[in-house]
Amino acid sequence: MDLYNETAVNVATLLQEQVGASRIYSFHLDRLELDDDLVASDVNGEMRLTRLTDEILANVTATATVAMTCLRCLELYDQPTKARFQEEFRVAYDVRSGAAVGSSDHDERFSINYANELDSREPLRQELIISLPMRPDCGDRCPGPPVIADDGEDGIDNRFAALGALLNGTNED
Ligand SMILES: [Zn+2]
Repeated sequence: MDLYNETAVNVATLLQEQVGASRIYSFHLDRLELDDDLVASDVNGEMRLTRLTDEILANVTATATVAMTCLRCLELYDQPTKARFQEEFRVAYDVRSGAAVGSSDHDERFSINYANELDSREPLRQELIISLPMRPDCGDRCPGPPVIADDGEDGIDNRFAALGALLNGTNED
């Protein structure tokens, strides 16, 4: 495992290599917070980083388990999921001089930071969220909708009992 509970890679060496040079890193994260109340656990993956002219292209594949609430039985279950994406990280600082490299205002690429680290955490977070099912379902063993609390039936029974008592009372009179 190249990256353990870590998503940032130092790419200083790769940035000094020629266009087309690449590296492959495997990574593991015990947990990754995806959103409020949404956490991925046991995230495993691999990323290939390729040096391009003014950026590094990251090809990432990852698998993870996310605790979700089943829409049918309303119970939490472990949803396995996987993501596969490509993300561009622009070179924001010259690797040798440290000087900022200009970009247009509309550049929406992620960037490699001043310490020459490329961090795939944010795109990974976004892609894992996208990978989740719109209608979470715990699967074939789903017990189905929870039985509505017995209160409803008891209420009916009580009303019948009360009615019965009333009728009985009337009869006895
Ligand atoms: Zn279920």
